[in-house]
Amino acid sequence: MLPISDFKKDTLPKEYRHNSLVSLVQNISILTGRLNIDYVSDKRPEKYPDSDDPYPLYDKSKKGAHDSRFATGIVVGVEKNTDTDALCYCFDCRSQGSTTTKKWGKVYLLTTKTVIFDKSEALKTKFTLFFDNKTRVLSGSSVKDSDINYDWCEVECATCDTTLIDKLSDNLERCSTEMKSVNSHFIGELTRPKLAIIVFHPFKQPKTFSYGFWKDRFEGNKNTWTNYEYNVGTERGAAGAFVYIVGVSDISKRYVHVHCGLRNHGGYSSFGLERTNDASNINDNRGPRVDN
Ligand SMILES: [Zn+2]
Repeated sequence: MLPISDFKKDTLPKEYRHNSLVSLVQNISILTGRLNIDYVSDKRPEKYPDSDDPYPLYDKSKKGAHDSRFATGIVVGVEKNTDTDALCYCFDCRSQGSTTTKKWGKVYLLTTKTVIFDKSEALKTKFTLFFDNKTRVLSGSSVKDSDINYDWCEVECATCDTTLIDKLSDNLERCSTEMKSVNSHFIGELTRPKLAIIVFHPFKQPKTFSYGFWKDRFEGNKNTWTNYEYNVGTERGAAGAFVYIVGVSDISKRYVHVHCGLRNHGGYSSFGLERTNDASNINDNRGPRVDN
């Protein structure tokens, strides 16, 4: 693990020292932000589905709603409002009672369901981008979609900062092009690339880069969904961070796994769709919608 500002080509293992991968990591870092969640939903279950394992924060949801915690998320999409009747409902517009802003849009971030459980928690979430320089803070406004079994949650942040939307849109496009090129390069070069990279915010701190290799791959009930176990070093605060698995992830299609936590002496990810399953018969939707 090292601060992202110290990351360079030599940081990578020898067989992965490729200029496009260096630039891709920098772009992943730009899209990665720190989450500060200040609320615990009273809808959190006591146990994981079909399991006796306790679900995170259930106890706090019983005692009281307030609980400040830090995690990580990644921007996976942006959208500008095109409905001339729809007004901005970002945190600032809502709190200032301003109901006239028609130039606005949405930023979508992905994290785990255990980090942000539902809309009540999204509404009390601050998402800090560009932590190290010209910081921008977005507030969660809703949950677009989530899945408790596969442990992912896509949060929507409304914003009237359309310059930010343009900037993130450019970064996403660059990231997606670079990811495709890096994937193709290493799939051609190595029989099966195993490199996994995580850029995350350790508890309240600036971004950190960490890499390792994946050890196990599991298929979910829907066999197009997988999750991974890996030996990438992380710290508190890494939950919800994007796990870039070389040859597998494709941010343009939201084939994205996020870091859940530690088990079996290593880290493990949420379930996600993946590039190797990119067949024409796969439904591109991330999964079943749950009520919030
Ligand atoms: Zn607004």
